[in-house]
Amino acid sequence: MPPDLAPYAVRAAGSRGRRFAEPAPRGRSEFQRDRDRIIHSTAFRRLEYKTQVFVNHEGDLFRTRLTHSLEVAQIGRSVARHLRLDEDLTEAIALAHDLGHTPFGHTGQDALNACMKPYGGFEHNLQSLRVVDVLEQRYGAFDGLNLTFETREGILKHCSMKNARALGDVGGRFIKKQRPSLEAQIANLADEIAYNNHDVDDGLRSGLLEIDQLSTVAIFRRHLHAALRAFPRIEGRRLVHETVRRMIDTLVTDLIKQSVANVRKLDPVSVADVRRAPAIVCFSERIEREQMELKRFLRTNLYRHYRVARMSMKARKIVTDLFKAFLAEPGLLPPEFQSRAKIDTPRAIADYIAGMTDRYAIVEHRRLFAIDVS
Ligand code: MG
Repeated sequence: MPPDLAPYAVRAAGSRGRRFAEPAPRGRSEFQRDRDRIIHSTAFRRLEYKTQVFVNHEGDLFRTRLTHSLEVAQIGRSVARHLRLDEDLTEAIALAHDLGHTPFGHTGQDALNACMKPYGGFEHNLQSLRVVDVLEQRYGAFDGLNLTFETREGILKHCSMKNARALGDVGGRFIKKQRPSLEAQIANLADEIAYNNHDVDDGLRSGLLEIDQLSTVAIFRRHLHAALRAFPRIEGRRLVHETVRRMIDTLVTDLIKQSVANVRKLDPVSVADVRRAPAIVCFSERIEREQMELKRFLRTNLYRHYRVARMSMKARKIVTDLFKAFLAEPGLLPPEFQSRAKIDTPRAIADYIAGMTDRYAIVEHRRLFAIDVS
C-alpha cells in the first residue's frame, strides 16, 4: 500500500500517463516503474564513466555522475518522505536528471553547445529528456523509455519559451509560468545539496582545496568547529567527513523546515495549487546566502583551479574536434547515427557525442586523430 500522502503530493494512480498507452503495472506504482526503467537504461550505466568535476581516470574515489545521481536520490527521498510526498517520483527524477550530460561535465556541455549554436544549441537538461523520450532503444513498441508525464516534466528543470512550445505537454508549465510538483522541486534542490557537499569532499581529497582555505566559508567553518568540538583530536579524512555530514544534515533539515513553513503559509490542497504557488521547496534566507557563498568559493577555487582548467582545455578540444570531424564527414559516424544524420546531421552528432563517456570520447578522439602509420 502506498504511504499516507499529503493532499499536495502527486498521486501515481492519477498520473497524466505515458505517451504510448500501456497496461497499468502490477505490484508497483507508475513511478516505481519509471524508476526501474531508468535504472535499467544504457544511459544510466554510462553515468559511471562520466565526469562530475574530476575526469574518470583521475581517481577511483571521486564522484562520478552515477554516484552523484545516487546521492541526489538519497537526499531527495529523505526530504520527500518527510513532506509525505511520492518518494518514487522524486527518486525517478533524481536518477534521470543527469542522463543527458555530455562527457567531461560542464566543459563538455559548453563545448557541445558552442558547436551546436547555429543548429539549435545543446542543453544537457533538454538532452536528459531526449534520452528518456527518444534515444534509449529498448522496447519493441516505442522509442525511449515511455516514462510518465510527471517524471518527464520533473526532468525538465529549465527551458526556453521556444523549446517549451516545441516540447508540447511537458513544456506547458513554462508557458503558463507555473512551478513543477513538489517532488520535482525537491529533486532540484537535492541536486544542489549533493554537488556542493561532494565537491567540497572531492576537492579536499584531491588536494586542490585545503581545509584552511575552506574555513573562510561560513557554512564550512561552522560545521568544522562543531566536528572538532565533538571530536577534538580527529583529523584528516575523518574530520572532513564529520564536517561534510554535518553540512548535509543542516541543509536537509533547513530545507525541510522552510518547506514545511511554506506549505503552512500557502496551504496548497492539491498539485494544481502547488503549480500556481511560488516555489515551496526552498532553504531559509540565511542558509540560501551561505549556500551561495559556498558556490562562489567552489567556482573560484575548485572549478577554475589551474589543474581542472588544464583538463577542461583538453576536454573542449576533444569535443570540438570530434564535432567538426563528424560534421565535415558524416560517413565517419557509426551506422546507427548515420541513419539519424540523414534527418538532422548536427543533432545526430550531438546525440552521439553527448552519449559518450569520458574515456570513450578520449579513445574516439585518438582513433580519429592519432596518426600512426608504422
Ligand atoms: Mg546533477
